[in-house]
Amino acid sequence: MTADTRAASRETGEGSCWCCGRAAAEDTVVRLGSHPEVGICVNCVHSLRRRARDLQATALRRRLRAAGESARREVMARGWHERPVIGPALRWINQHLPW
Ligand SMILES: [Zn+2]
Repeated sequence: MTADTRAASRETGEGSCWCCGRAAAEDTVVRLGSHPEVGICVNCVHSLRRRARDLQATALRRRLRAAGESARREVMARGWHERPVIGPALRWINQHLPW
């Protein structure tokens, strides 16, 4: 289905999902704000939401890992891991970090 036929079918109350291509009634299709010609069925909206959440979680894990690596470099550069009181605590933290 082309963009023109999708737009035409939208005017008739019938439509198809731009994501999966399945036919969907116009009242069950979510339209994009800046591109109202694009309609997505509810199942695909939920699927896209899950994918977006997974992407966000991955980005958050990357940021946390980078922050941990940065903190580790600073500790090593300053020699804090060798100090008598804080050193064992820092080494324990380092062993128990998930990355
Ligand atoms: Zn769909």
